[in-house]
Amino acid sequence: MDRKLVIAIDGPAGAGKSTTAKELALDLNYRYIDTGAMYRAITLLALENDISMEDEDGLTRLAEEAEISFTPLTRDGNTVYLNKRDVTDAIRTSLVNNNVSFVAKVAGVRHALVSKQREMAQNGGVIMDGRDIGTVVLPEADLKIFLTASLKTRTQRRLDELQDKGEVVEYDTIKDNLETRDSIDSCRDVAPLKKANDAIGIDTTGMTIKEVVTRIIQLMQGV
Ligand code: C5P
Repeated sequence: MDRKLVIAIDGPAGAGKSTTAKELALDLNYRYIDTGAMYRAITLLALENDISMEDEDGLTRLAEEAEISFTPLTRDGNTVYLNKRDVTDAIRTSLVNNNVSFVAKVAGVRHALVSKQREMAQNGGVIMDGRDIGTVVLPEADLKIFLTASLKTRTQRRLDELQDKGEVVEYDTIKDNLETRDSIDSCRDVAPLKKANDAIGIDTTGMTIKEVVTRIIQLMQGV
């Protein structure tokens, strides 16, 4: 395919969005933009600076002033920089997991991050994943995918990922975090987690990442 597309991938936590998006980006030589990492970075900054999760003005200011960037993706992943500091691992802790959905509810935070995300997608050849990419950030995307999977599958995938990194976390702790985040993300007033009307749903329960990637490449050929 000659023309470089803009692809939006949304869905609940643990549905396989980032693993799928990274594989696709590497296969197609597209850029990958992980918008969840941006909300996580602001959450980290708030926790470090003792800004309350209820202080909407304080959180908005952090999001407006923060400089967030990603290094190009390789097979070893990529690095997330927050104000020139490598925060790749620091944004994946349980503390950030448990607080990020409160930061992501704040309209001012979303406004600031959405404009950065649109800027990053400007030149096409982009795969962006999140919760509101197809509905709000890139409503004109060439292809919109909404990934889902059963809660059991999503929990098990997260557990495997963490175990691979040598972390010991209880199954139920992960399950509770996914359920709580999905509920806050789906019920918030601003840009809730929702399938865009023109998005194509893929239930990844029982599918391998390779199968999901192949399906999306097929769909791209029909664009
Ligand atoms: O994708 P990830 O699980 O890392 O996202 C972390 C959190 O960031 C989500 O639970 C959600 O609260 C928020 N988020 C969002 N909108 C996006 C991406 C992530 O609200 N586009």
